[in-house]
Amino acid sequence: TVAPLARASLLSRIGNVQEHVTSHDLVHKTMRMIVASRAKESHPSEDSFFVGDLGVVAHQVRSWRDNLPSVQPHYAVKCNSEPQVLRLLAGLDVSFDCASKHEISEVLPLIRDPRRIVYANTVKHPSYIRYAAEVGVKRMTFDSVDELHKIKENHPDAELLLRIVTDDSASLCRLSCKFGAPPDMWPDLLKTARDIGLNVIGVAFHVGSGCTNSESYRDAIRDARLAFAEAEAYGHTMRVLDIGGGFETETFVDTAKHIRSAISEFHFENTELIAEPGRFFVSKAFTLATCVLGRRLTKSDASEGMLYLSDGVYGNLNLIIFDHQVVQPTLLEAGGSSDTTMTASVWGPTCDGLDRINQVVEFPRTVNVGDWLYFENVGAYSLSASTSFNGFNRGCEIHYVYSGVH
Ligand code: PLP
Repeated sequence: TVAPLARASLLSRIGNVQEHVTSHDLVHKTMRMIVASRAKESHPSEDSFFVGDLGVVAHQVRSWRDNLPSVQPHYAVKCNSEPQVLRLLAGLDVSFDCASKHEISEVLPLIRDPRRIVYANTVKHPSYIRYAAEVGVKRMTFDSVDELHKIKENHPDAELLLRIVTDDSASLCRLSCKFGAPPDMWPDLLKTARDIGLNVIGVAFHVGSGCTNSESYRDAIRDARLAFAEAEAYGHTMRVLDIGGGFETETFVDTAKHIRSAISEFHFENTELIAEPGRFFVSKAFTLATCVLGRRLTKSDASEGMLYLSDGVYGNLNLIIFDHQVVQPTLLEAGGSSDTTMTASVWGPTCDGLDRINQVVEFPRTVNVGDWLYFENVGAYSLSASTSFNGFNRGCEIHYVYSGVH
């Protein structure tokens, strides 16, 4: 549950609070209301908008606490850094994973306690490390000797987590190509840290973003135990295990079961356990509505064509490119007869051929300019990486609701 005060102040800022209504019904009702109210304006906007259901975010946090009660989540701010989301999570006693000075400065006023932040970026700007030192953020990850020297110079009291490499082959977005020290590098890293007087307090890993193989977490926890032993041999006192992010709603209960059993198998019960979930908290909480700006028929009987929308891969649907997501558009109001259909490719608004959202989608043949389509489950890595290329998508509207989920 949300702390009562935080909850009251949060709900007072949300337009549509209907805790007894399902998320699906409330989000659809809200989209229709917005489209209808825009239609009444003298110059209605075709710009896309989000409906964000904060009830879903709160539900995901509850699910986390139910399934992994001993692991303190540090939400990965990069995933969706909208102030309402951060405020809700802060009120729910979630901690934060920040990767930059800006992310730290956004989160700190919400939580006040810098110990609730892990600076989980293995390669940091020296000036950002100094900023972390100034504001009291101590925990940070590393995976190279050079980073150790940088930290020594800028934040000698930091508390370090050695990021180890993982098998990320079962993940949507692989990270081991860029981050994580392999076992043969651990001795050098741990010895250097000891020799220059740095404090290694634990191990971090990330099995890759969007991980559907629960075994990956078990294998990484097993490797973390080996890294703990190595670090202790170099005189470090190890007390934190950071099991990273990657969690998917569909496989979460099973993944959590594997993690609980690996924690016990590899004797981490008395270690402080933390994690860095991102998409798990927000992905299902946001729906994007976009307007059909154009239609080009490619068969004269109107059985095939192309639809051009007011948002695309340079905007909020960048997750198609950066996050390897497949998204499915649905007509908000399926008017006319639905037994005659057309197939259409779906495109964004920019002047670029890369801006394709779908190759083939089936629509009622009545679909036309001015209709609205929506995309569900687009809360993660969407707004946070959106560009305004070609002058589109500047300041996308977000309408918040709070449903009872179900
Ligand atoms: N932590 C780190 C260091 C990351 O790089 C990422 C994503 O790239 C995350 C956490 C969040 O991952 P996810 O959204 O898959 O949970």
